[in-house]
Amino acid sequence: MKKRVLVKFSGEALAGSDGYGIDTKILDYIAEEIRELVNNDIEVGIVIGGGNIIRGVTAAADGVIKRTSADYMGMLATVVNGIAMQEALEHKGLNARLQTAIKMEQIAEPYIVRRAKRHLEKGRVVIFSAGTGNPFFTTDTAATLRATEIGASMLIKATKVDGVYDKDPAKYDDAVKLETLSYDRALEDSIKVMDDTAIALAKDNSLPIVVADMYTKGNLLKIINGDLSQCSIVK
Ligand code: UDP
Repeated sequence: MKKRVLVKFSGEALAGSDGYGIDTKILDYIAEEIRELVNNDIEVGIVIGGGNIIRGVTAAADGVIKRTSADYMGMLATVVNGIAMQEALEHKGLNARLQTAIKMEQIAEPYIVRRAKRHLEKGRVVIFSAGTGNPFFTTDTAATLRATEIGASMLIKATKVDGVYDKDPAKYDDAVKLETLSYDRALEDSIKVMDDTAIALAKDNSLPIVVADMYTKGNLLKIINGDLSQCSIVK
C-alpha cells in the first residue's frame, strides 16, 4: 500500500519576509517539496493555515468584530491560501484538488472524505481548506482531523524550527531538542506543539505528529522514508 501523509503549513509560512500576504517564491518552494513526495509515490494531503491574512482571536480582540465572525474570516483566509497552493502545485505539473469545509462551489469542491481518498489514490494532492468549518477551532486541529479521516500514517507540521525544544530556543541558549515525546508532554505549556484539542485528537487516534523544518530541502521525503534526524516526533 502507498504511504499517505498529511502536511500542515502555517499561513505565516507563506508570507515570507513581508510578514503578510502570499510570497509566490515560498509557494513554489513548497510545491517543489510536495512534488518530490508525489514523484516518490506518496499520497499527500495538505492543510494550510490563514495566519498570514487573519486570525480569529486577533481580529476579535477589541470587541468590534465578534469571535465567531472573526473565525469565519480566518477560515476564508485559509481558502485564499488554498487557491494559491492549488495553483502552485499545478504550475509544477501536479494534479491538485482544493476542498473546503464551507461550501463555495465556484471555488472549491465541498469536503467529502470518500472523494478526497479517491483523489489521493489517483495521485492528486488534496488541499483541505476552511479548517474544520467551525469557529473556535484551529487549522492544527483541522489537520489532525483530516489526517485521521483520510487514514494518514502521520501528520507533519512543517515549521521554521527543526523540532520541539524543552523551552523556546529563540530565547534560551540551553534549550534542549526533544527527539521523541509523548502526547502528554506535547501538551505542556512550555512545549505546546499544537493546541490541546489537536493533540487530544491525535492521542485518541494514535496519530504521530512530526514537527519538522520546512526550509531544509528534501526533509519531508527523508522523514517519510524514516530518517527522523531533523525533526521531533510526538507519539
Ligand atoms: N479557524 C476556525 N476554525 C477552524 C480553523 C481555523 O475558526 O477549524 C480560523 C481561526 O480564526 C484561525 C484562522 O481560521 O485563527 C486561521 O487559522 P490558524 O490560526 O490555525 O492558521 P495558522 O496559525 O496555521 O496560520
